[in-house]
Amino acid sequence: MSKKIAIDGPAGAGKSTIAKLVAKDLGFIYVDTGAMYRAMALYMINNKIDPADSEKISETCKSADITIKHENGIQVVYLNGENVNSLIRTEAVGNMASASSVNGDVRKKLVELQQKLAETVDVVMDGRDIGTVVLPNADLKIFLTASSRVRAERRFKELTAKGEECSIDVIEKDIIERDYRDSHRENSPLKQADDAVLVDSSNMTIEEVAGRIIELYRSKS
Ligand code: C5P
Repeated sequence: MSKKIAIDGPAGAGKSTIAKLVAKDLGFIYVDTGAMYRAMALYMINNKIDPADSEKISETCKSADITIKHENGIQVVYLNGENVNSLIRTEAVGNMASASSVNGDVRKKLVELQQKLAETVDVVMDGRDIGTVVLPNADLKIFLTASSRVRAERRFKELTAKGEECSIDVIEKDIIERDYRDSHRENSPLKQADDAVLVDSSNMTIEEVAGRIIELYRSKS
């Protein structure tokens, strides 16, 4: 049976950075489920879909073909055959992803894809509902969090490094709104699984967090 580590938590807690390090150390494949929701959101934006029109979102998601490949250890997301890695990291796509991911048809389609990916290979998968819905039998479940200010600061640094102009207060406001939407939606809300270990990364370095998760995994297996 393949091994599975689930890492859930709010936006900006450091899930992807940490999950990548853990996967590398253990020789697992890293699966970023947020990227799949972002690719779906990009498809909605390209088709000029209103984020509040759930019927249109349900209908449109049927024609989105999202696939994941791993090329040189990097996850590449394809949307209808096109590599969209460089198009999905904007605030606009993130906000649309948060809105369109409340849709049950979008979730059903992407959860099936995620479960299939984890069937045959050892994975570290990060998202919002991995421990609760996608991989309820994961070998280790982590709920990774940090304060909204710390998360906004990290995002601010990332965006300014890429040359995007932004305001830390606006980012923090977006983060708080997104947390609220993610944890209050009807379908698969963001919440800590009963058997998940809570890790607060506010005052920890990336290496410390990754080290703690690897230690937890080793002590369990
Ligand atoms: O993690 P990331 O910010 O890339 O995710 C983008 C959006 O996709 C999140 O705001 C969340 O609403 C949604 N998402 C989700 N379930 C997941 C992963 C992401 O609903 N497993």
